[in-house]
Amino acid sequence: MTDAPDDHASSVDIAPKRWLCCHCGGTGVDSYGPTCPHCEGLGFC
Ligand SMILES: [Zn+2]
Ligand SMILES: [Zn+2]
Repeated sequence: MTDAPDDHASSVDIAPKRWLCCHCGGTGVDSYGPTCPHCEGLGFC
């Protein structure tokens, strides 16, 4: 189901710039260290 009728509505509301990091949630900080190891502190990946 790749052609969902309401798929375009949700994709616009999620990412203003890029996809927020699925590990730190876009904060760029993780409990493992000063910077998120998944996005390197960028906050998105
Ligand atoms: Zn991520
Ligand atoms: Zn991250």
